[in-house]
Amino acid sequence: MKKRKKIIITVDGYSSCGKSTFAKAIAADLGYLYIDSGAMYRAVTLFCLRKGFVAGGVADTHNIISALPEIKITFRINYDTGYYETLLNGEKVERELRDRAVSDNVSAVSTIAEVRQKLVALQREIGARGGIVMDGRDIGTVVFPHAELKIFMTASPAVRAKRRYLELLEKGLPADIAAVEKNINERDRIDSSREISPLRKADDAVELDNSTMTVDQQMDWFRKLYKQIMHEG
Ligand code: C5P
Repeated sequence: MKKRKKIIITVDGYSSCGKSTFAKAIAADLGYLYIDSGAMYRAVTLFCLRKGFVAGGVADTHNIISALPEIKITFRINYDTGYYETLLNGEKVERELRDRAVSDNVSAVSTIAEVRQKLVALQREIGARGGIVMDGRDIGTVVFPHAELKIFMTASPAVRAKRRYLELLEKGLPADIAAVEKNINERDRIDSSREISPLRKADDAVELDNSTMTVDQQMDWFRKLYKQIMHEG
C-alpha cells in the first residue's frame, strides 16, 4: 500500500470557537500529533503571573524578556487522554493554564515580540517532520506559511461565549457567562489588532463557520476537504 504523505494542518481562529475540539478530532482521525500553541502562550503567562511580571492586563515587557531564558516549555504524553500536556519548567500545569488570571493576561504577554519568537521557534521545531495539527492564531500565517492545509475557524460571539462557559463548568472551574464574554471579546480585540502576527485568515486558508455544526458535521466537512487536498477524492 502507498504510504500517505504526512502533512501540516493549521487551525487558526477566534477565541473559543471550538478550535481545539476540532483540531484534536482531526488529529485522532489521521493519527497525527495535536499541538495547542495557545497553551504555550498560557504557560509563559502563568510563569509571568507567578513572578508578578504581568497583572491587570499590563505586562512588564523588560522583566519578561529578561526572564525568557528561564522558561522551558516541554510536552509529555498523557496516556489516559492520549494527548500531549504542556509542562512549565517540568511542572504539570494543564489545569492552571485555564485559570481566569491566565486568560485575562495572556493576550498582553502574547503581544511581546521576543515571546513570540521563542514560541514560534519551538512550534516550528515540533512541526518540522509533518504529521501534525496545530491550532492557534498565527499558525497558518506565520508559523507554517507553507502548510498544505490551512483552516480558519469562526463562530458567532454568543455561541463562543456559551461554549467557553460550559467548558469551564465541565472542568469544575468557576464560570460567569458575562465575564467569559467580556474576556473573549477583549482577547479577540487585542489578538486581531496587535502589530506582530495579528490574528487574520491566511489568504489560502479555508473558512469553517461552525456556529450551527456538530463535531460530526465538522468532521464530514473536514474529510471531504482532506481528500481534495490529497487528491484522493
Ligand atoms: O488558544 P487559546 O485561547 O488558549 O490562546 C490563548 C491566547 O494565546 C490567545 O488569546 C492569544 O493571545 C495567544 N495566542 C497567540 N498565538 C497563538 C496562540 C495563542 O497569540 N498561536
